[in-house]
Amino acid sequence: MIEVKNLVKRYGNHLALDNVSFTIEKGEVVGFLGPNGAGKSTTMNIITGYLSSTEGEVLVDGLSVLDNPEKAKQRIGYLPEIPPLYTDMTVNEYLSFVCDLKKVPMSKKAEMITKITKQVRINDVRKRLIRNLSKGYKQRVGIAQALIGDPELLILDEPTVGLDPKQITEVRDLIKNLSEEHTLIISSHILAEVQAVCDRVIIINRGRIVATDTPDNLAKTAVKSNKLELRIKGPKNDVLNGIAQLPGVQFAEIVRIREEGAVDVNVETEENADVREAIFNFCSENRYPILMMKTSEVNLEDIFLQITGEREAKRA
Ligand code: ADP
Ligand code: MG
Repeated sequence: MIEVKNLVKRYGNHLALDNVSFTIEKGEVVGFLGPNGAGKSTTMNIITGYLSSTEGEVLVDGLSVLDNPEKAKQRIGYLPEIPPLYTDMTVNEYLSFVCDLKKVPMSKKAEMITKITKQVRINDVRKRLIRNLSKGYKQRVGIAQALIGDPELLILDEPTVGLDPKQITEVRDLIKNLSEEHTLIISSHILAEVQAVCDRVIIINRGRIVATDTPDNLAKTAVKSNKLELRIKGPKNDVLNGIAQLPGVQFAEIVRIREEGAVDVNVETEENADVREAIFNFCSENRYPILMMKTSEVNLEDIFLQITGEREAKRA
């Protein structure tokens, strides 16, 4: 669906994109992840034809965005970092205007606007001036604008930035729904943001792609030691020593006591060792009830730092 080939973008002397290439298949939901200034918006602006690249090309369904901007743009709905809203218009007026820009036939306009305003839940504010809407509503008007013309591909640049937690949840739910019917690219500098919805994550840092994989695989490959959190009822030292001696356990420590008579133990295991059954058997033989056992949540933030950090170290 999209082929990005060897994009280079210079702003004067500043190299914003340094040979960026990737492809996105039809139906994929891809997270484009990187810290501020990494080059996400620049890449998205080039894919959507709003910005020209210094070198390289972008093909949308085989069409060069540069040579066939109209046809390529028809296939793409774009929510830029700052949505292009005309705040002195009502939602209805604005969406009608976008229909005209995207050459939606007169006969289909009303139906399309009704369908989309329902879909993104801005039905109740259609007659309000955009400038009087809350930030969450404005963002949904921005998404509505991207949906006009039924584009197959949606590109959303940091769609939840600046929203409050409730609005973030609403926009995330909306994106989740959209992901069922669209090829989707969502940029973000927050890992959790893309983790939940994306099939694949492309990580960009300082204008270069540093990794691309499924969120799960990124988690697996980057985490070198497994961590378990336990709460076990029994004598503190016996529990700790017993667990520390199990095969596969690299390290065990008591982190706190939350419930009387029970200890919270964090365990680190050797790579690929699964010690959960051994822990169960040990506790069961000694009649120490296990009150809790869970694998520590893998924090993608750590993975991100690890991946970008390693590359930096190699280059240095
Ligand atoms: P991101 O969206 O990942 O935060 P951007 O694509 O906006 O990153 O920016 C990438 C780099 O290019 C940054 O260092 C930014 O300062 C620079 N940059 C972006 N737009 C311009 C511009 N119009 N002129 C000069 N430099 C720019
Ligand atoms: Mg940006």
